[in-house]
Amino acid sequence: MLFDRLTNLNKSLIFRMTVWYAIIFAITAYISLSIFYLRIQAITLEQTDAELIKEIDEFASLMQKEGLSGVIAELKMEAEEEQAEEVFYRLLTHAGQEIQTTDLKPWGAVEAPQEILSTLTENNNVLKTLTIPGHEYKARIIYSIIGTSEILQIGLSLQEAEEYLGIFRTLLLILMPSIFIVATFIGWLIAKKSLAGIEEVTQTATEISKGHFNKRVGTHDKSTEVERLASTFNHMVNQLQKLITSMKDMTDTIAHDLRSPLARIRGIAEMTLLGKAEKKEFEEMAASTIEECDNLTDMVNAMLDISEAEAGIIELNIVELDLTALIKEACELFSSVAIEKHIDLKFDLPAKVTLKSDKHKLQRILTNLLENAIKYTPEGGSISVTIEAKQQYVNIMVKDTGIGISDTELPYIFNRFYRGDASRTHAGFGLGLSLVKVFVEALQGTISVSNKDPRGSIFKVTMPA
Ligand code: ADP
Repeated sequence: MLFDRLTNLNKSLIFRMTVWYAIIFAITAYISLSIFYLRIQAITLEQTDAELIKEIDEFASLMQKEGLSGVIAELKMEAEEEQAEEVFYRLLTHAGQEIQTTDLKPWGAVEAPQEILSTLTENNNVLKTLTIPGHEYKARIIYSIIGTSEILQIGLSLQEAEEYLGIFRTLLLILMPSIFIVATFIGWLIAKKSLAGIEEVTQTATEISKGHFNKRVGTHDKSTEVERLASTFNHMVNQLQKLITSMKDMTDTIAHDLRSPLARIRGIAEMTLLGKAEKKEFEEMAASTIEECDNLTDMVNAMLDISEAEAGIIELNIVELDLTALIKEACELFSSVAIEKHIDLKFDLPAKVTLKSDKHKLQRILTNLLENAIKYTPEGGSISVTIEAKQQYVNIMVKDTGIGISDTELPYIFNRFYRGDASRTHAGFGLGLSLVKVFVEALQGTISVSNKDPRGSIFKVTMPA
């Protein structure tokens, strides 16, 4: 149990981000503090060196003013000042022989190596840090020529500086674990804050999977990336919800629309069986059944075509075709139905308009629009088909003087299974215009409808030339 929880913790992004943050922060803090420490160490040494050089300068000017005896007298005075632990002075000949010195007892066997003395010139000092045997602290030693050939060696204990640096080191040792703890806490806070949005997305997804489809992730107060994730997630859920709703509507409508023709087929069969059916009645029943079955097949085919086009798997056979001829053919196909209904079907077309498109799909678009125009235009009305050919596009207009489309219905007429109130008395499944729209869009075109004419409607299909 505990092992599992630890393994899960190890896998969690918050944990990993916290650890990384703490490690990086600790390393950065360690490096910065080390640089700071080294810098302080260097500054302390520079100060000690400056002090030593100042002493040398003072002795050099004393030598100039009062000569060797003056320097010796000064050294004797220094010897009396009881600071032998902190500093010593030793005046030497160039060969290394001692002329005068302060108390050297605390300094043990501190030497004046000949190899250093021999390298000295009038203009340069030699500075060295030495470990004095038996001494806890190191010492900084300066060698310098102060007279014609006399060399002054001054040693200054680094006790104060080392004690000061020691305190700094101890402080660092105490501070490092605290810095690490604080860094871990800050890292955890940052990780938690930046991943809070992701956590919210996860929680919302869990809620949605439990059936609360209206849940959404709040998109405010989040980092841009998480906000984008949240809004993409919300968008995805909205799309899915729309899809689910439209699928539900579709299944409801299919169930409803299938029920009526099936009930009719059953009714015809039942009536024929119950009555003393003659051959003629059987023939009528068969004819009605075939008609209903054809309607059902049309509906299923239309649905399949729509789904195929919407899924983007529709097959197009683009060829150069004569649009004028195609429209004439379609109008001729409907001319007998139009005559039967006393509708004046006319077309006003240019001699030849060529278009690169799919012939079969265009035919279906035209037949659906003409079929609707005839269906929704009462006797005595008229339908006209016109073409407007431009350089970039071609407009095909189907205008009728029929029942028209109200403003309230206009936004829905291209929806699947949508049927206007006034159209209920006519046969149909509400799929014709949806099919037209998906075909037009598959051919890179657009379709619009206008109900602004005093009578009827105008459907306008725009196709790229
Ligand atoms: P259907 O004709 O089977 O009802 P459609 O998808 O072809 O389905 O049309 C959807 C709706 O658009 C129709 O029910 C009707 O209300 C309206 N409509 C389509 N074409 C016309 C038209 N030419 N005149 C008036 N209304 C139309």
